[in-house]
Order: sequence, then structure tokens, then C-alpha cells
Amino acid sequence: MTGELARLVEWKRRIARELEETIGREAAERARRDHHARRRPRHCGMTIHTGIGCSYGCVYCYIWDMGFPGKPEPYPLTGEELAYALAVNPYVVPGKTMAAYGSVTEPFQPETTSKALEYIEAVWRWLRLPSQVSTKSLLTGDLVERLRRAEPRISVLLTIVALGEWARRLEPRAPPAEERIELAGEAVRRGLRVALFVRPIIPGVTDRQADEIFALARRSGLSEAVLGSLRVTPGILDRLEAVGVPRSLLEARLPRKPRSRRDQVTLRMSDVKARVASVARRHGFLLYPSACSHNMESHGEPCHACNYGPCGPGRPRVPQPGEVREAVEAMGGRVREVVVEYPRIVIEGLSGVDPVVVREFLSAATRLMVSVGSAGSSRRRRRP
Ligand code: SF4
Repeated sequence: MTGELARLVEWKRRIARELEETIGREAAERARRDHHARRRPRHCGMTIHTGIGCSYGCVYCYIWDMGFPGKPEPYPLTGEELAYALAVNPYVVPGKTMAAYGSVTEPFQPETTSKALEYIEAVWRWLRLPSQVSTKSLLTGDLVERLRRAEPRISVLLTIVALGEWARRLEPRAPPAEERIELAGEAVRRGLRVALFVRPIIPGVTDRQADEIFALARRSGLSEAVLGSLRVTPGILDRLEAVGVPRSLLEARLPRKPRSRRDQVTLRMSDVKARVASVARRHGFLLYPSACSHNMESHGEPCHACNYGPCGPGRPRVPQPGEVREAVEAMGGRVREVVVEYPRIVIEGLSGVDPVVVREFLSAATRLMVSVGSAGSSRRRRRP
């Protein structure tokens, strides 16, 4: 009898075959060359680019240092081509891998909204990936309805790092923060799952305005939040200083200096984060330890794939070692030993398939922590 994990391997192949027949060989080749067909998911899930560039001009954003333009263009693949690229990506598991929209651009700019909705809809229809979108746009009634049609349980993160004059300085071309919050509350009443995304916390700005931010958000109807730290490059330090954030405040929190234009360094911020968290709780907010945690909650699915877990309701199902072995064989590999003890799966003596692919695939498929040792590796086995 085929177990659920091996069935996921087969389901993935079937989706890829059906999509290839739908889009044709030429489009399939183009999609296979796209980075969505190769990239490894990040902690928050598989990041999906809905456009290239962004016009909001947020001064704390790292995309300027990555060479993205200030005038956005929709991403060139169609929705089905993107779904195909994900279906052939070896790390992606249908129904399981989380999809994250909005990491290198604002998805709902006028130029990219249709493309973002097309991608969200196609990825849900073909692959059933639990999706999350982060945005600074206004969640208008029309957008809310289209989002809910595209992915009924989508997790939405509304980014707010400051209000009033500070928001205008930090996010010069994004919609006003207060209006974003007001419409997000309305979106919650229309049935969308929206959390306040207070990221990046700007030391000396966000923490000082935290009381005002959470009070306003609570009055609007929001009650969930995710907090996040600031990452800086030399360019971000310059831009923040230019709008009035004291450079010394930021540099005092640097664990090391950024080494190059693209080098992103996360500030030491546990004290600031704890202060902001305590303000959020005082206003009745439920805090999630990370963005993906809100995604799991929104989709009603459990996860214990990292030390923040368990997230979502209950605990993930624990597979039998034989089921894990069978899935690896379905991927073309062999294993010497599998040990399963919640929340960890340990695989030893893997051969015939890339251990990183096996680890990522099984971790997404089971939503448990997975470690993999290759055949011939002298690494001592880590007991669960
Ligand atoms: S356990 Fe929670 S934080 Fe960790 S990957 Fe899963 S959802 Fe994300």
C-alpha cells in the first residue's frame, strides 16, 4: 500500500505532466529556466515574485541594493507557467509547501495587482500551496473579494512600521498607514485573515509609536500580529539617517559591519522586540513567532518544522519509518536507516538523490524537523 508521503511525490509528477500538456512544450521550457523552478524555499515558504521592481520607495527596503528598479513591471510568466515552474521545482510539495508573496516587491501596485491575483489563483488551483501575502496596499472591498476567490484561506500580513509623518518619511509612496489599518479592519470583517506585520521594527521610531499603532489597529478590528527585526545594508543605514533616524542608534545594534553593498546584517533587537511585544499584548493582540506561523493558523494546519513550533492547531501527523523510506525511494533514492521521534525525522545513509532536496521535501511534506546524512558520511547520527 502506498503511504501518503509517496503519494505526494506522485501527485507532484502528475500536476507537472498536466500543466505541461496545458501550457505546451515551449512555455514549459521557458518556465523550467525560471528561478521559481530551482530556488529553495525560505523559512517563510517559497517566495513568489509577482513583479520586478517597486514604486513605494520604502527607505528601509533592501531591494534597491539588490539592483531592482523603482518602476515595477509584472513578472513575465503566466499563472500556469509559474505553477508549472513550482511543480518541477524539486523542493516544492503540493498541498504542503507554503507560498509567500511580497518579499521583493509590493504585490498590489497598480501595475502588478492582476498578475499577483493570477499567480495566487493558479498556485492554489493547481498546487494547493497554503499562501501568504504581505502588503502595504489598501485592502479595498474589491481586492478583498478577489483575494478570497483566488485563495479562500489566504493569510494576509499588513505591514505597518510607523504612523503619520514617520510613515510618510519611511514609506514615501505607499498609501497612508492609518488608511491601511482602517481598511484592514474592514477586510477582517469581510472574512479575510489579516495580521499586523510590524516589520521591520525601526529602533527609536516603531517602538516609540507602538502604543499608538496597536491602539489604532485594535480599534479597527485587528487582533493578530507578527513582529520582525531590521536588516541593514550600508545603503539602508544612509537612507534611514537621511530621513532622521539617528545612525548611532542603529550602529550600536550591529553585530558586525555590512561588508558590501548587498550584505544584509540583522540588528540585535531582542530588547526592542520584547518591548513592542509587551505593548501589543497589552492591547489584546495575539502574537505569532513568525510569518509562516500565521499562514499555518490561517489554513488550520499544524506544523513543527522548526523550534518555534508547534504552530497551528494540534500537532502534525507522525509517519512510520517505512513510509519515509518509501517516499525516498519514490524520489529515486535509498536509505540505510530512518528514525522517527516527534518532532524529528533522522535519515541515515542516503544515496541516489540530493540530501538537501530530500530534507526540504520531507520537512515540507511532514511539517516536522528532518535531518539527513548521506551514505559514506562520517557524521555521527543525531538521535531525535
Ligand atoms: S513550526 Fe511554526 S515557525 Fe516553524 S516553520 Fe512551522 S509554522 Fe513556521
